Amino acid sequence: MRIVIKVGTSTLAHPGGRLNIRHTEDLVKVWSDIKNAGHELVVVSSAATGLGVGKLQIARPQDMVTKQAAAAVGQCELMYTYDRLFGQYNHTVAQMLLTWADFEHENRRVNLHNTLERLLELGAIPIINENDPISCEEYSLGDNDTLAALVAECIRADLVILLSDIDGLYTADPHTHTDARLIPVVEDITPEIDRLAGGAGSALGTGGMATKISAARRATAAGVDLIIANGAHAEVLYDIMDGKAVGTRFVGKKEGAQ
Ligand code: GLU
Repeated sequence: MRIVIKVGTSTLAHPGGRLNIRHTEDLVKVWSDIKNAGHELVVVSSAATGLGVGKLQIARPQDMVTKQAAAAVGQCELMYTYDRLFGQYNHTVAQMLLTWADFEHENRRVNLHNTLERLLELGAIPIINENDPISCEEYSLGDNDTLAALVAECIRADLVILLSDIDGLYTADPHTHTDARLIPVVEDITPEIDRLAGGAGSALGTGGMATKISAARRATAAGVDLIIANGAHAEVLYDIMDGKAVGTRFVGKKEGAQ
């Protein structure tokens, strides 16, 4: 299988912006094992801004330039961490920093596609993030959920997994409604599903359930299944690979289907 796994800031970093060592180490271990089992893996990783804030020991920036500067610092920290951790399992990582323009312009999209394909052929693990330090509003993707769906579409992945700090999509906000139920499968993204997504993300990341539903809409339209699962439990990835029901699965539209 060719899998795109997106992991959010809330999983990789503590609220103050320091690395969440347990989550990150657990994830890299399981990802390495999935790769060892013969699957192709592309990681879309957030947390550049968050880790930059932690490293610079500043308050969460409100202005764009400081956010971008923090992302430049944090991206180094992020790749250093991945390189070191994946290196323990003899895996090679590759950094790719993208903006909306890379998908919009034909020649850039072709280059992106070719480089990703070659990296996978070479056995490397591409680690992708938005190029935050230079992305201006016009070309900003804004959230890595959308980026993961775009990457999956570009390389015709079999599956996208969005790892978040929540188990999946619920019938109501599980933090405030004790009777909220997890929705295991979504065949169609109806207005009701959009309504359930609401807004809100974590303090340091930019995503939330709404961006995940929007990514699911994009991925499923391209025929790719998308699963939202909890990144705090890396071993759920084994269950996903074994075909067990985990989190919320949005079913990709198959060719010929209505
Ligand atoms: N690209 C941003 C970062 O690395 C995060 C975007 C997101 O949270 O989806 O900090």
